[in-house]
Amino acid sequence: MNREQEIAARLCRWFNTAGRALPFRKTKDPYHIWVSEIMAQQTRIAALIPYYEKFVAAFPTVTDLANAEEETVLAHWQGLGYYARARNLHKAAKIVRDEYQGALPKDAQALRALPGIGAYTAGAIASIAFDLPVPAVDGNVLRVFARLFGIESDVLKPQTNKQITALVTDMMGYELPSVFTQAVMELGALVCLPASPNCAGCPIRELCTAYEQGKTEALPVRAAAPEKKTVPRYIALVFDANGERVLLRKRTEKLLHNLFEFPSFDTEQERADFLAALNAQNCLPLPPSRHVFTHLVWAMDGVRANSSAPAPSGFFFAERAALDQFAIPTALKLYKEAAK
Ligand code: SF4
Repeated sequence: MNREQEIAARLCRWFNTAGRALPFRKTKDPYHIWVSEIMAQQTRIAALIPYYEKFVAAFPTVTDLANAEEETVLAHWQGLGYYARARNLHKAAKIVRDEYQGALPKDAQALRALPGIGAYTAGAIASIAFDLPVPAVDGNVLRVFARLFGIESDVLKPQTNKQITALVTDMMGYELPSVFTQAVMELGALVCLPASPNCAGCPIRELCTAYEQGKTEALPVRAAAPEKKTVPRYIALVFDANGERVLLRKRTEKLLHNLFEFPSFDTEQERADFLAALNAQNCLPLPPSRHVFTHLVWAMDGVRANSSAPAPSGFFFAERAALDQFAIPTALKLYKEAAK
């Protein structure tokens, strides 16, 4: 048995006894595995479980999801954020319904052609659901493999990704792909952690170059990401005269498209003009809030006020008690709670 075979065998043995019993590991339904992978893209596993369970209960099959209205799908995504994932999942479900008779294609290239499915997710679905030897390489896998093989080049560089992808592909061939993929993911999630790997509890410690050479803290090498642009947003919670309803609008912008938000503005002056036009009363400040998107940061400043004017064009008053029915982005969580 060579070193790669030994690593693959130990990892899979370890996973079969120490892997967590997650709800989407009890199924071989490719659609359920797909949903869990999309949710896991920006959400921690422990946090996504209740959302996953509710989502697959509401939409048990690809066709159920495809047949649902986008608003209903977005409402079931509430709390997870990054709504583009839900929109793409919905779009892809329609393609699977119409072009693949409601069953996900058993082919990594065809999976990759679906909206929201990149190389990593295609590899995860192909290997976990269909046992195809297709690698799924994300940040966790890059970290584990950079340490395991003592790779000192920047893991964000395409050549390093290619080198690690080739290693993963080779090693998958020695074991059942579904188990191997999940074993590497699980090692990255539970043992080979970013800040302080638990090498003492690692099943492949004796085979790990970084451990042997004392480089576990130094690897992986990752070039610093460019700083995200911070954009101010001025939010206004405008309640009606008796405080039972609050003003909302449906976003038409690309960012958070079709989600609902409270009136928000680029400048404080625009917000002041808007409130003045509504003859708003009882204007009080709300705490500031920040939200980090993948490419920018919103620095939010909030106020609350009352107005007896009708909703201006493009806005409507929603019952405060019914706010949970509207897909309001996680970015506005603090103001949503204040509006309830
Ligand atoms: S020995 Fe440590 S650094 Fe190496 S794979 Fe295991 S946890 Fe990661």
